[in-house]
Amino acid sequence: MKIHFLGGVREVGGSCIAVESNGEKVALDYGIKVGEKVSNQLRKDFDVVIISHAHLDHSGNLLSLSRLNPVIVGSEITRDVTSELLLDMIKIQHLNGNHFPYNKRDVDNIRKSWWVRDAIALSGMQIRLHPAGHVAGAKMTSIKAEGKEILYTGDFCLHDTEILEGTKLEGLPKEPDGLVIESTYGGTTRPPRSKLVDQFFRQIRDTIEREGNILIPAFAFHRTQEMAKRIDQAIHEGVLPDYHAYTISTLAHKITDYFNSQRHFFTEEIQKQRHPFNYRHVKPLRRTKQIKEPAIVICTSGFGHAGASLHLLTEWAANEDNSVMINSGYLPPDSPLKMAKEKGELIKNGNKIPVQAEVEQIELSGHADQTELIQLVETLKPKRTFLVHGEPEQAQALSEKISDITEVYIPEKRETIAM
Ligand SMILES: [Zn+2]
Repeated sequence: MKIHFLGGVREVGGSCIAVESNGEKVALDYGIKVGEKVSNQLRKDFDVVIISHAHLDHSGNLLSLSRLNPVIVGSEITRDVTSELLLDMIKIQHLNGNHFPYNKRDVDNIRKSWWVRDAIALSGMQIRLHPAGHVAGAKMTSIKAEGKEILYTGDFCLHDTEILEGTKLEGLPKEPDGLVIESTYGGTTRPPRSKLVDQFFRQIRDTIEREGNILIPAFAFHRTQEMAKRIDQAIHEGVLPDYHAYTISTLAHKITDYFNSQRHFFTEEIQKQRHPFNYRHVKPLRRTKQIKEPAIVICTSGFGHAGASLHLLTEWAANEDNSVMINSGYLPPDSPLKMAKEKGELIKNGNKIPVQAEVEQIELSGHADQTELIQLVETLKPKRTFLVHGEPEQAQALSEKISDITEVYIPEKRETIAM
């Protein structure tokens, strides 16, 4: 069995790994680099392409395969959300007047080529998918071939959240010959999640006391729904006072419909509810004009580059009564949120606006932190471990922590390993 590391190594973005055995060629993820377009350069000769989850850094390059009718395997919600995210990407590229040679038919082709499966067998190769936490429908993949077994984690977490359970270690193959594991936060340990959630609610309560607005930029997929559910429950249980609360994002609202109709991906508590993502206190709005201030607003884009979050950021930043809550640990260097947080200023129509609002970063991440990464390695005891999907410092930090349990290797891009 051979593993080719084609993308998403020594960096985050463009995840793609090829596994070859007995003439069968399988791709694990087929992503784009964030902020970059679909690449036609990535290898295309696969029998099966397995998509771990709907984030575009794992799925976005599927457009380049859409006219080759490949067999794509992944969960139902990964198929549905990937389709929505690809359609959105096509729309944005065309709106910006960019040359982008894909359209809705390509997304239809991808949907038609998609097999919703948790297990498949190729000649001499057995493939199984396992729940991974992280976001709705995310899966790890294990492959057995030539008497060897490997496990690819994709993005994962062990911790449960309000809506989703983390990976269950019991179901994963023990002592695999190879483990290919993400290392996004390989050098980072976070305080317990309950502490972070308390801190998050405290910040919101303080802002409500001074009757300020609270802006929560969030990604349309999973983070918006998780955040809205968290705030909805908190208002319902009296943890937060009753306050106007909204989500604004056409894309997020479409994705929320899938969340309501595919409840089996979520926690038991969520499954008991009929329409768990039709919130009691958090109302979906189409535009910022409809907001009754003061309010809590969860909206896209997640980094404040565009849409309602950019509009409200520039509108609300100058008032010290307001708060901006950042949930992502990572912020791109050119993002308005990073400027607001680190430089205390924003640019609007070429003019600088000083940021007086409180900008708080509380990382409620869907990725495993260092403790969880080590726990997975300690439990599974893989013979060899390959660190991917992480900046070199993060991968290195994790490598030092697990090198007495397993043989660790940080592959280079385009490197091939024989198992
Ligand atoms: Zn992801």
